[in-house]
Amino acid sequence: MCVPRGRVMLKISGEALQGPAGYGVDPAILSGIARDVAAAVAAGVQVAVVVGGGNFFRGVGRWPGLDRASADYVGMLATVMNAVCLQSALEAEGVPTRVQTAIEMREIAEPYIRRRAMRHLERGRVVIFGAGTGNPFFTTDTAAALRAAEIGAGAFLKATKVDGVYDCDPAHHAGATLHRSLTFQEVLHASLAVMDGTAITLCKENDIPVVVFNLTTPGTMLQALLGDWSVGTVIS
Ligand code: UDP
Repeated sequence: MCVPRGRVMLKISGEALQGPAGYGVDPAILSGIARDVAAAVAAGVQVAVVVGGGNFFRGVGRWPGLDRASADYVGMLATVMNAVCLQSALEAEGVPTRVQTAIEMREIAEPYIRRRAMRHLERGRVVIFGAGTGNPFFTTDTAAALRAAEIGAGAFLKATKVDGVYDCDPAHHAGATLHRSLTFQEVLHASLAVMDGTAITLCKENDIPVVVFNLTTPGTMLQALLGDWSVGTVIS
């Protein structure tokens, strides 16, 4: 399925950035992402990005004694570290990039201002949204869905480490079947492990198709960015 190029929301999990080290940011992976985004921007696609923070910290993985809200704030700060690294990688590829954070930290990034974000995108700048939604008890998938709706993105491109959505976990079941397309209702009804229900519901209610694809397969992310959604699973 090929769709017209426009404005897209690219969601990259923190885990996808960590590479074989299992922690932090792998420079080669970051550069690969930056090259693909640069090529898409050169082709006229307006790219907004949300990066997760799981490669550094996750609220749900906290230790006893650290309350959930505090842990989630640390998780949100982790997303800002990734956002700043990705900005630098994109600028090394010659792509003007702005980071906007949901929690103000003006020395590092702009605060999130919807209209300003849209203006940046119109001018060919990549906008990376950091610090999630700014609220604990949410995920960066939800932040990406929320921002996608706010900026009028035509698609939510979810980069993962698998080829799309399977009927069961491909890591544990050799015969797992890849779905090529699903409805939002099917994902919600079967509680398929695509992303959390809040994020899926936001995309459903705002008619934003979700494309789940494999970030580690060379060329796939660029294809998805350019509107070739046959690379993974389309949820609409
Ligand atoms: N987080 C949060 N509110 C948000 C987005 C993120 O509290 O709106 C926190 C939460 O603790 C989460 C962490 O930031 O575990 C990192 O985000 P996420 O787990 O979504 O990252 P990913 O799995 O994509 O790497």
